Amino acid sequence: MTTANKERILAFFDEHYPDVKGELEYKKDYELLIAVVLSAQSTDVAVNAVTRKLFTKHPTFASLLTVKEAQFAAYFKTLGLYRNKAKHIYNLLHLLNEQHDGKVPESKEKLLKLPGVGVKTANVVRAELFKIPEIAVDTHVARIAKRLGFAKFSDDVTTIEKKLRRLLPQERYIKTHHQMIHFGRYLCKAQSPQCKKCPLVDICVEPNKKL
Ligand code: SF4
Repeated sequence: MTTANKERILAFFDEHYPDVKGELEYKKDYELLIAVVLSAQSTDVAVNAVTRKLFTKHPTFASLLTVKEAQFAAYFKTLGLYRNKAKHIYNLLHLLNEQHDGKVPESKEKLLKLPGVGVKTANVVRAELFKIPEIAVDTHVARIAKRLGFAKFSDDVTTIEKKLRRLLPQERYIKTHHQMIHFGRYLCKAQSPQCKKCPLVDICVEPNKKL
């Protein structure tokens, strides 16, 4: 990754995606946490369809605590891994209630102890709720980082996160994370990247490669 390429990529992102934000819908901190846990291997659109129903029926934390695991599974059945997700959300809510007074913790260490919460989820929550500079490497970010040369195709998510942290200015972590997701969702798609329309094709490591 040359400095010139990096600057061109970031200038392209800023010109075309100046204000992109996360697309998961939430009003309360625990609602975001639930939505991010549900988003593993599911699209934000599918998660929003589920959480709209769940949070309308159960608009408070106390109300969500009355929902049984099997009832969560019924809400989540349109999502992949829904039985696991139901178990995680049920346990997560009760743990939040018992150990954190129903508040989502800011500390990464504490977040990682919650059921269903891995590094990516913890990073998304810390960036979104607490504005802590984190780069959550999801499937879009990993793919774009590889295609645009921030990382190698063989790198795992931990290595990709380290490389992005080193290559990007810290004040851009949150913004560029959203920009990469947007670029990946609408142009540089996994199976059908729109390479003919891509203004970064000359920088791309391997145009038309499916990931
Ligand atoms: Fe993605 Fe294609 Fe652009 Fe490469 S050329 S960054 S694969 S859209």
